[in-house]
Amino acid sequence: MNLEFLKKLNFNRQFETEAERERVLKHAAADSLASGKRAVPTIIFFEIIMLGMWFLQGGFFSSMEHIAYFIAYTSLLLCSVAAYIILIAVGRDIEHRYRLLQDLSVVYDAFMVIWSVYITAIDAHYNGSFSGIVFITILVIVPVVSFVKPVFYVIFHVVGCGLVLAIISVYIKDDVWANIINFSVFAIISLISSLTYYGVRISSYKRQVMLEDAAERDVLSGLYNRQKLGRMSPVIWKRCVEKEMTLTCILCDIDDFKQINDNYGHFVGDEWIKTVAEIMKQSVHDDLCFRYGGEEFIMLLPGEDLKDGIHVVEMIQEKLKIFPQKPGNIDVTLSFGIYEGLPSAEGDNIEKFFSKADALMYQAKRNGKNQYCSERV
Ligand code: GH3
Ligand code: MG
Ligand code: MG
Repeated sequence: MNLEFLKKLNFNRQFETEAERERVLKHAAADSLASGKRAVPTIIFFEIIMLGMWFLQGGFFSSMEHIAYFIAYTSLLLCSVAAYIILIAVGRDIEHRYRLLQDLSVVYDAFMVIWSVYITAIDAHYNGSFSGIVFITILVIVPVVSFVKPVFYVIFHVVGCGLVLAIISVYIKDDVWANIINFSVFAIISLISSLTYYGVRISSYKRQVMLEDAAERDVLSGLYNRQKLGRMSPVIWKRCVEKEMTLTCILCDIDDFKQINDNYGHFVGDEWIKTVAEIMKQSVHDDLCFRYGGEEFIMLLPGEDLKDGIHVVEMIQEKLKIFPQKPGNIDVTLSFGIYEGLPSAEGDNIEKFFSKADALMYQAKRNGKNQYCSERV
């Protein structure tokens, strides 16, 4: 038996790291949000049409049959309206609420399956007929449209098909085995399609994450590059303005790097860039470290002040001194500019912080290198 097929049901295994899994799920959530915003209003529209048709055919409560269909269409309508409201709310902060969207998809899909069983039951009860068309359509379409782990569909299919077969055995006496076979075939097709779509989506999101990394990370140091700094700095700035937080900006430059290259070769120079980046990552969250230029780096500390900035710099200097495997067996020093300010909605911008930190770093170079200069507004 091919166990790989079963392993696919547990898609967590497909991720190398938790960070990769989270980023893939965020991509999936963004897509689910977009398709949900199209699909759910469509369902709402059709439910209103269906309710209108039943109303025109004698009102909602003229018979038990009308009441049964009224319950069906109203429940789907209300559930869809609630889902749409949650979609909009989640969409405002998809970055943090993406998991909620996954849970919502599971609940909504489960509701759709149970709802289609209910429709099948009232069709069979009031018309004595059994088409199962709504049930089969939901079974096949739902895994294709939404992004839910296939393991949930296994549960939905077992429960859904079990209930439908129970209904058939009550209302329809002929063709019981034919129906059982038909439903099993549809359930299997649906499960295979959910596995395929889920797998294809996961690999396409993984490719997207890889391409994003390649576009925003510097290959040598593994730090974010200047392009990423350009994209992230307005976000950090906005957060500081909204929360009235200070922002501390640290600019770091390797001292006499040209001489290192000239005297020990570019390989040793490259290894030092990697080493400095590694020490920075150990001292500041790596989402906030950037390779600014050749041997220049920027660290942004939102919500932190000059004292915190100085602490980070002293920590980096200390770690650099005692670093165990110094490339080329040489000592290297760094100069820093540290600037703290309070970002405001009007007037200044983050570039002013960069140029202030840059000027302070050059001041440190003029003062003899291997030191920092700092300033706050
Ligand atoms: P200062 O102390 O004033 O900063 O002097 P410096 O020699 O560090 O500064 P300068 O700007 O004169 O030289 C920087 C050198 O960094 C020049 C460039 O060849 C080298 N460089 C830039 N990017 C890389 C890189 O990725 N790898 C290596 N090995 N060298 C690089
Ligand atoms: Mg330099
Ligand atoms: Mg430089």
